[in-house]
Amino acid sequence: MKKVRVRFAPSPTGGLHLGGVRTALYNYLFAKKHKGDFILRIEDTDQSRYVEGAEQYIVECLAWCGIQPNEGPHQEGEYGPYRQSKRKDLYKKYAEELVQKGHAYYAFDTPEEIESLREKLKSEGKSNLQYGYHVRYDMRNSLSLPAAETEALLKINFPHVIRIKIEPNEIIQFKDMIRGDMEMDTNNIDDKVLLKADGMPTYHLAVVVDDYLMKITHVFRGEEWLPSAPVHILLWKYFGWKNRMPEWAHFPLILKPDGNGKLSKRDGERLGIPVFPMQWKDAAGDTLKGFKELGFLPEAFINMLALLGWNDGTEQEIFSLNELIAKFSIERVHASGAKFDYEKAKWFNHEWIKKSMGNGQWAIVKNIMEDAGIKIDDDEKLKKIIELVKDRCTLLTDFLHQSSFFFKAPQTIDTASIQPKWNEKKNQFFVELIRSYQLINQWQHDDLEKTFKEIAAASQIKSGDVLLPFRIMLVGAKYGPGVFDIASVLGKDETIKRIEHGLTLLNNKS
Ligand code: GLU
Repeated sequence: MKKVRVRFAPSPTGGLHLGGVRTALYNYLFAKKHKGDFILRIEDTDQSRYVEGAEQYIVECLAWCGIQPNEGPHQEGEYGPYRQSKRKDLYKKYAEELVQKGHAYYAFDTPEEIESLREKLKSEGKSNLQYGYHVRYDMRNSLSLPAAETEALLKINFPHVIRIKIEPNEIIQFKDMIRGDMEMDTNNIDDKVLLKADGMPTYHLAVVVDDYLMKITHVFRGEEWLPSAPVHILLWKYFGWKNRMPEWAHFPLILKPDGNGKLSKRDGERLGIPVFPMQWKDAAGDTLKGFKELGFLPEAFINMLALLGWNDGTEQEIFSLNELIAKFSIERVHASGAKFDYEKAKWFNHEWIKKSMGNGQWAIVKNIMEDAGIKIDDDEKLKKIIELVKDRCTLLTDFLHQSSFFFKAPQTIDTASIQPKWNEKKNQFFVELIRSYQLINQWQHDDLEKTFKEIAAASQIKSGDVLLPFRIMLVGAKYGPGVFDIASVLGKDETIKRIEHGLTLLNNKS
């Protein structure tokens, strides 16, 4: 079997959104599973749609996801350059080769002539038709003009394009690895432009030439490219490369949460859900937060994406990148669209936080804390805290709320939740607790709990009635992990200090 070579071929026309990342991911998983190569190719031939920074963004997003290309603009290989604008000169030769072979022709029609063709077809009720076999001989091109005239026009470099000559009455059949047998009638395909007047190739020409030259074995891309597949197949055939043609698969759309149409970048803003992997500044200058900034682990993000349109046939939902590589198969990708569910995305993140926080991921939390102005000088303490609170964190940013009281005494204490049931008996309990805690030498969870319960029993108080005030004194509010876990991490001095402060507040109010 030939070495598998797949490509992810985005156009740098805007922020790469989650659908694009999923296309990259599925290509990557397939390549790695078959010990093949994953190639990043930047398709930037349409200069009018070029967006500054978009290529860099694509590269950074893939890196964040752990998707490392074998070849690409930053990993030069044997088949480069990997940016189409740098390959510009080679496409013309291929377009002309097709003209020589009779599968393409020069077209000299002016924009006005093209416009009047459109008007004419519209007035005849044929607006579904375009420049194609039924009208091409009425237009100004090398098929309709005498050879000498064509030559003369080429000689004076009269503005022209090269169009593919699609033969009518042919059924193009091909197999899509997800959708099965597909067919399309060539009568419905227009004579697409291959080479533009400025000498730049169109997508159709560049994609086929590059897939051929880069020895691509499988073309996997989004469903929106399905209608282009017959044109590409014809090009492979017209060039005489049919025995080298790649296999095809078109991934389903990622749908809005309600299943009503494709999830667009605008839906993200409208519904307040992220659609970009990382922060992206759009054309209007608005910065849109991505999954990364919202507190997603890349492991969770790619796990969620992989399952948006694929499963391994079991109930398993949590997969590491390596497991995905081992289990992935194109045939198990669904043909129908997958609804994006942000709550489910958060569930994946929660699972990954619980699973992976011990494995060096704690440093991410350290950054989050330090960015918020909380200096961490004891990494071991932070790791202990992460273990205590991770079950309560859905997003990485939740660690800030769940852990900052360990490092900084709470600014406000929710005394209002204690006050209504506060009494002298409880006050005495805490006075006694401070006294006993001061005498403890081994400051650890079990001893703290034991002492707490003994004093409660001796004071004829239910320990349940003083646990909440204790928690609020330490944390500031009603949340956090086990209260004796908190006290054991805070240490003797800090715990006692917080109880004393709590008592001052409560007794001053009553
Ligand atoms: N440049 C196309 C895009 O932006 C690639 C389509 C393909 O993979 O053939 O999605």
